[in-house]
Amino acid sequence: MHKMTTCPYCGVGCGVDADILDSGSIGVKGDKSHPSNFGRLCVKGSALHEVLGADGRLLTPLINHRPVSWDHALEEVSSRFLRTISEHGPDSVAFYLSGQLLTEDYYVANKLMKGFIGSANVDTNSRLCMSSAVAGYKRAFGSDTVPCSYEDLEKAELLVLVGSNAAWNHPVLYQRMNAAKKKNPALNVVVIDPRRTATCDLADLHIALKPSTDSELFSGLLRFLADSDALNETYIDQYTEGFEGALEAARQQFDSIASVAEYCDVDEDSLSTFYHWFSATDKVVTFYSQGVNQSFSGTDNSNAIINCHLATGRIGFEGAGPFSITGQPNAMGGREVGGLANQLAAHLDFSTEASIDLVSRFWKAPNIAKTEGLKAVELFQAIEAGTVKAVWIMGTNPAVSLPNTHQVTAALEKCPLVVVSDCMASTETLKYADVCLPATGWSEKDGTVTNAERRISRQRSLLAPTGEARHDWWIVSEVAKRMGFAEAFTYQHPAEIFAEHAALSGFENEGTRDFDISLYKDIDIQTYDNFKPVQWPVTAAAPYGTARMFSDGRFFTPTTRARFVPIHTSSPVQQVTEALPYLLNTGRIRDQWHTMAVSGRAPRLFQHRDEPFVELHQADAIKEHISDGELVKLSHPQGDYIGRARVMASEQRRGELFVPMHWNSEFSALGKMGALLESVTDPISGQPESKHGRVSLAKL
Ligand code: SF4
Repeated sequence: MHKMTTCPYCGVGCGVDADILDSGSIGVKGDKSHPSNFGRLCVKGSALHEVLGADGRLLTPLINHRPVSWDHALEEVSSRFLRTISEHGPDSVAFYLSGQLLTEDYYVANKLMKGFIGSANVDTNSRLCMSSAVAGYKRAFGSDTVPCSYEDLEKAELLVLVGSNAAWNHPVLYQRMNAAKKKNPALNVVVIDPRRTATCDLADLHIALKPSTDSELFSGLLRFLADSDALNETYIDQYTEGFEGALEAARQQFDSIASVAEYCDVDEDSLSTFYHWFSATDKVVTFYSQGVNQSFSGTDNSNAIINCHLATGRIGFEGAGPFSITGQPNAMGGREVGGLANQLAAHLDFSTEASIDLVSRFWKAPNIAKTEGLKAVELFQAIEAGTVKAVWIMGTNPAVSLPNTHQVTAALEKCPLVVVSDCMASTETLKYADVCLPATGWSEKDGTVTNAERRISRQRSLLAPTGEARHDWWIVSEVAKRMGFAEAFTYQHPAEIFAEHAALSGFENEGTRDFDISLYKDIDIQTYDNFKPVQWPVTAAAPYGTARMFSDGRFFTPTTRARFVPIHTSSPVQQVTEALPYLLNTGRIRDQWHTMAVSGRAPRLFQHRDEPFVELHQADAIKEHISDGELVKLSHPQGDYIGRARVMASEQRRGELFVPMHWNSEFSALGKMGALLESVTDPISGQPESKHGRVSLAKL
């Protein structure tokens, strides 16, 4: 029997055609009917059936690492949360969620914490992925709205990839770009990235800028557009505000291409070529990802890019727009339900009393949170400081993935109550759990996810839950009932949750909010089962979804005009020093996912890279007497990382190192990247500065 479902790894959100065999195993191939991938899958997606089975799964609830019944575990969680809240108030508890959760799981957890417990301490590992892009969109558009579709990558005449190694991290989108370039050789591709990555194989031009100079490079472009008569004055006049301030700030930063080139440490001719291409091409998509977001100035980086699109009116039509690509499969679904500490629900936030009142009335929630909660890094600092005394972590492994992992583990050790829901049994975070709750995993769950082009797709259950695993939405609802909120958490099926989420999106929404899927507010189980992928908004006026936003030049700001944001020069916080002379860049590799809790179960996914490594420039290797393949040690006062040297001729800039984010003690005692990074975040978005650490380097 075949069922169509969705890949649980990256934000591309590929459709998967799963063949459920009589033997109880499954086979996978790409879903040819899914408009995001048209049958393509990458290596990770095509190995999905290799990571299933009971091995390594968390099979029963545990208290103090001893098996207990579900009833006992749920009672323990609810009673201890209630006691903590009664003794220390609602802000003494927190949830830390994951972009791996389904929208329905996210919705129920967010509703419980914000609506009924009365705290906004709900954050997510999506904070590490795209929160700067969210903040940038909200500043510019008044809403967290991704304007583009994947098909725009194929319609563009100039593709600008900034801080993105799409060939490894969004492989199916890279395949689509590659096919588009073959079909249209006139398509120019520019890659802006300090490293020469596999993505550069597609590039007509690679600009290896100095790390964290993205906003300056795009401010220089804004000034160039103005000076070369390439502005769209009509668009600026009719649909935007604040242009003069943004241009003035750009002019204060730079007076020539040469000055930008010097600041960004790039070749002036290459920069000039890029600027001329951008100014001369109508259909431009700027595709940006974690290299832009994971920065002290991640929000400014986003707005510097958006400024250039607004100045040329290159948004809202085929083949054009500033396109942030999320890393995780459901980072966007989490945003839709409000699963970030600075959001409320349905793309409403805490900025107005009216929004809080609206959500409170819809949920019939007497105790709704009134102010923003703690963002990821702040949250674990508050746990260590003792102000947050109970945390429930769902589907993520912060003991590995957050910066300054020693601080995170110290916080978890100290926290009076740590609850962890996970489908796997041996993540580092589980070691610190007082209560472990076995959750269903991919192939067992039913629900929806939203990918990077706003497309909502179904994940479908293919197999029965393993052991005593339960769905996350069910677990949270059962705890909510035991906490005294039974009436608001009566869900029997994820379709009911999706319908409520859809109804909230349309509640008192007269076109003033971007996120609206109210067409599904009465969806029944059968229609939910047959749900076809669709891009929001989905309303009575747009029943088949919406491929492109802002085509009419109207935005979600109070004036309906898009806002330019003046950008000022800023410097990364983690600057190299004499003792820590190397700049540290971090990221994913092609065939692994996050902390490898799931992808690490497929032996074939280790064929590409099988151990922690450090990429470095050959001049640095000579200076440090390091040969290719030798073990090297990166050190920081917070911790060390050991990996095998990969000496690069020119792919890596001098004085800069790259390490993968995945390894941890479950797979190797040597290389945990998070140990090296400091707890530095973008002051607006709260996203960690994970692309600009500092370390020393030595042969082991
Ligand atoms: Fe899965 Fe992403 Fe690969 Fe698609 S590109 S198969 S969503 S990991």
